[in-house]
Amino acid sequence: MNHPQSKAIFISLLVAAAVLGAASGYLGWSLFLAALIWIALQNREFKKVEKWTRRPLTPPKNGLEGWFRLAYEPYRLIQRERERTKGITSRLRQIYELAEVIPDAVIILGSSGEIDNLNNAAKKLLRFNDRDIGLGISTIVRNPDFVAFMNAPRFIDPLEFTSPFDQEQILEARRFDVGTERKVILVRDITALNRLLTMRQNFVANVSHELRTPLTVVNGYLETMIDKEQPEDLRLSLIEKLDSPMRRMQSLVDDLLLLTQLESSAPTGVDVPIDVSSMMQNAYLEVQGLQTSENQITISCESSMTILGTHKEMHSVCVNLLTNAIRYSPAGKPIEISWRDISGGARLQVTDNGYGIAEEHLHRLTERFYRVDMSGSRSRGGTGLGLAIVKHILRRHDSTLQISSKMNRGSKFYCDFKHFAETTSIR
Ligand code: ADP
Repeated sequence: MNHPQSKAIFISLLVAAAVLGAASGYLGWSLFLAALIWIALQNREFKKVEKWTRRPLTPPKNGLEGWFRLAYEPYRLIQRERERTKGITSRLRQIYELAEVIPDAVIILGSSGEIDNLNNAAKKLLRFNDRDIGLGISTIVRNPDFVAFMNAPRFIDPLEFTSPFDQEQILEARRFDVGTERKVILVRDITALNRLLTMRQNFVANVSHELRTPLTVVNGYLETMIDKEQPEDLRLSLIEKLDSPMRRMQSLVDDLLLLTQLESSAPTGVDVPIDVSSMMQNAYLEVQGLQTSENQITISCESSMTILGTHKEMHSVCVNLLTNAIRYSPAGKPIEISWRDISGGARLQVTDNGYGIAEEHLHRLTERFYRVDMSGSRSRGGTGLGLAIVKHILRRHDSTLQISSKMNRGSKFYCDFKHFAETTSIR
């Protein structure tokens, strides 16, 4: 019943009661009856409103009628508030969903440092769980540096700290204060980054160290050569001596360039079948010149399988492994380079009967500049990069370097290659 309608009913009732009352002579009773009818009608409307108030979030039927008019305004206010809350909740949900795609741990703190919310990365990295929500972050991560970082009046530098759960893992925390109330903490794992930085520092230190020795020698020779007071024949004889340190520097620079190129460039992709027999023969001829002591080198080519890849790179593998076999074997000890079938493919192997390598060094031999006995190895003329080069080349040929060795009995360096469906015969 809307407002004008109820007004019309009221007036109609009044008029009807007055007419009937005047006609019948019972005007008072007639008006009284009309009032009762009016009250009954209003009572019915009131009951409807009362019923609606028990579920005020459903829109009132005939919202503008009678008593509903009273309830309609509060209903509209509730409804508006409800829409606003819905909007904020959905925006918050979007923010939390965004926090989930961030790979770093995101922790949102409330005004007294209690955890308000966190993403899955935080659960993984700092082993938080939903029960930690509401607890103070410093009571969970008790690292003193982290606690001081959290309590500092403002954030200056990121904090590096060791993970409370893994001594090997280095974490970095950054803090963003949102006004004076809230804070957002971002934590990320920087173990790999740190390792990379350390590797870079070590690399530069190693290169400088390797270059310093031949440079010092060259420097010493040059000083003598330009000293006019030194006998002429001595000064001339030093020219020849320059050759060795110069070669050493040259091979170091060559190896470094090759290694960088192997590490930074993708495999050429132009794989051609490599005639392993002639590749081994060429490598043998190349290392012949290096031999100061006579080692008997045997070439055994028993597999007809070819390797698909880059000839120059695979040649370098053979030369490096043969050079090492010669370098780390006493005079006269036999060395073999072989190419044999194995199940599913073929194996390239260099076997020596030399000094051998202790077990604990084996897994580090392919690291750049790693040498078992630094001073001993260096005096044998290596750069410490040979096996790193071999490792990278083999990786580009879908193979890996494997080593087995016994002290004073010798070593085997080998790599396996898979059978290819189509093998091309080599002329
Ligand atoms: P280097 O130029 O010093 O030979 P490599 O990377 O080729 O560097 O080899 C790393 C180290 O591995 C060598 O310094 C040496 O100590 C050890 N090594 C490599 N090959 C052999 C081998 N056949 N026998 C014994 N030790 C070896």
